[in-house]
Amino acid sequence: MKSILVIGGGIVGAACALRLQAAGVQVTLIDSGDKRRGASYGNAGHIGSEQIAPWSAWGNVLRAPRSSFGAGGPLDFRWSDVALWTPWSMRFLRACGPAQFERGREALDNLLADSLPAWRRIAELAQAPEIVIPHGHATAWMTERGAESGLAACAAAKWGRTTSWREMTAAELARYSSVLNREPKAAVIFTGTGQVSEPQAARDAILASFTERGGESVAGSVVRVEEGARVLLADGAVRNADAVLVCAGPWSRVLMEQLGVTTPLIGERGYHLQSAETNWPRDLPTTVFDENFIAVSRFTSGLRCTSFVEFGSPDAPGDERKWRRLRRRIDELGIKFEANPDRWVGSRPSLPDFMPAIGRLEHAPKVLYAFGHAHLGLTEAPITAEIIAAIAAEKAPPVDIAPFRIERLS
Ligand SMILES: Cc1cc2nc3c(=O)[nH]c(=O)nc-3n(C[C@H](O)[C@H](O)[C@H](O)COP(=O)(O)OP(=O)(O)OC[C@H]3O[C@@H](n4cnc5c(N)ncnc54)[C@H](O)[C@@H]3O)c2cc1C
Repeated sequence: MKSILVIGGGIVGAACALRLQAAGVQVTLIDSGDKRRGASYGNAGHIGSEQIAPWSAWGNVLRAPRSSFGAGGPLDFRWSDVALWTPWSMRFLRACGPAQFERGREALDNLLADSLPAWRRIAELAQAPEIVIPHGHATAWMTERGAESGLAACAAAKWGRTTSWREMTAAELARYSSVLNREPKAAVIFTGTGQVSEPQAARDAILASFTERGGESVAGSVVRVEEGARVLLADGAVRNADAVLVCAGPWSRVLMEQLGVTTPLIGERGYHLQSAETNWPRDLPTTVFDENFIAVSRFTSGLRCTSFVEFGSPDAPGDERKWRRLRRRIDELGIKFEANPDRWVGSRPSLPDFMPAIGRLEHAPKVLYAFGHAHLGLTEAPITAEIIAAIAAEKAPPVDIAPFRIERLS
């Protein structure tokens, strides 16, 4: 393969573009141009190599009523998008069977095992090692009860094989008293995980390297993709190459369906508030406050708090109640935050079995695809890019990709 059109310039598309280019392929990256549109802009920045359990699990189904927005939790469904999430939910329930869950966990463990090293490798390729901060992450509990059940759940869970965790010491817990109104009752700290310095900055560094090496970027929206690797843009322009890579996040669904492929992708929407002013130290790692349903990440651009799992269309407007609830959680914890923080909503691209789709179309070999990374797209982007570069070069991918075939969902 000499040339490829990469459709979608989120973190997955950006990483694939750079890796394909480094492998000697002439790459054209086509993106609609709104950097805030995809989840790659507003996520929590956590390199989550520990998260090997697919979300399609009976435990999550049973917890759903307690996790619902109405009950104070993060889970919600947009009623106006009921036609989207009803069929998706049926497939989700089918994917929760114990045998399928186990297969998914094994596949994700394989994919995630090399995710942090793959981040280091792409940061080196982009000559921006500072974008990867491998200082682990933490989960904290503010009440005795939460700490007791949280620690028990932590001990019972299976985590990624390249990660480990331990309880924080009293001295480590005490550090939170300078940024919260009280110390957590308990917390755990993981190793083998990390964060990026800032999600958009990481994507920008990768894209800057791609451009410096002569990569072509086109600002435009693909409205049609054909099996012969021909694409039509909204402005009427037509592009051809030896191959095309579909990696347009939740919007990949429409493009894949043009190619005759069943693609049950949904927008699993999350929200953030970000304060440019903060007293959160740079070396205090991303911390999940389990009982408050928020993740707090210190980036170069400020302090970001993320939350919510809202099923619906990736193009729907944000729900004001979510930003208000997020603000309340921040204030309850006593986190110093500016009065008018940056507000953002965006969609995780989620398939019902919570595994990504990575591969080459069986019936149309000029089409490669990489989407559906759900909660782990930032984590998995560099390893996905190495897999895509291997497929393009007709070499063996570094990970068994049979579980990630899109045809599994047909
Ligand atoms: C609140 C929140 C927190 C998260 N936290 C984490 C985390 O800590 N760690 C982690 O690993 N993951 C996290 N995620 C998930 C992660 O952000 C996503 O999985 C990842 O960003 C998906 O990247 P992507 O490149 O596949 O898609 P996107 O980021 O959606 O990018 C797709 C791009 O394609 C473009 N596009 C779409 N259609 C077209 C078209 N027809 N033509 C041209 N361009 C097109 C879009 O404009 C967009 O730029 C989080 C997500 C959310 C919402």
